[in-house]
Amino acid sequence: MPDLSANQDSRNRGPRSAAPRPGGSAYPGPVERLIVELGRLPGIGRRSAERLAFHLLKASTDEAMGLARAVEDLKKTVRHCSVCYNLTDEDPCVICADARRDRSKVLVVEQPRDLIAIEQTGMYKGLYHVLMGRLSPLDGVEPDDLTISALLARITDPTKNAGGEAVGEVILGLNPTLEGDGTAMYLHDELASRGVGVTRLARGLPAGGSLEFANKAVLADAIEGRQRM
Ligand SMILES: [Zn+2]
Repeated sequence: MPDLSANQDSRNRGPRSAAPRPGGSAYPGPVERLIVELGRLPGIGRRSAERLAFHLLKASTDEAMGLARAVEDLKKTVRHCSVCYNLTDEDPCVICADARRDRSKVLVVEQPRDLIAIEQTGMYKGLYHVLMGRLSPLDGVEPDDLTISALLARITDPTKNAGGEAVGEVILGLNPTLEGDGTAMYLHDELASRGVGVTRLARGLPAGGSLEFANKAVLADAIEGRQRM
């Protein structure tokens, strides 16, 4: 059994890293492996990963295995809807499968979490299309890296839309950032040339929507509200 207290001292001096340190870790293999895996999560450095690993060591078997099973179920059952790319455990997703929704309207968002935010307002009863990102030429994100071709296919071929219904209006709900705006302009051109009506949310942000950009959005509303697509 390694001396964990001695290791605690030495870890405080080392740089943060998710990788095993040179010369090997003082932890037993399974502990080190868990620390490395936890350290891959966003915002989790080596120290946080160690703290979480020790929490799980102390936790009941039920609690620890509950976490393991949740991760397993997530990867086994959750996928993207084949119509709108929303996260779902059934295909098509419950939104696309809901015949009471207005399937002639498609609201385009960047990420599944944007869709959730809009759904939570209860103000929208049409369908969605999740781009899985936004265009970012500087980062090498091109149209083919997003679900744009699937969106255009839904417009030109109604059988590709939920319920086989023709799309009459596409609402752009991208975030009010440089890249979001660039993506909106690109989509507008592609969509308008296919004869579908294109509108945009008031700067793309529903009430209670995009948390970190909300204030900017309000400002952007005032400035950009004049713009029509
Ligand atoms: Zn769907």
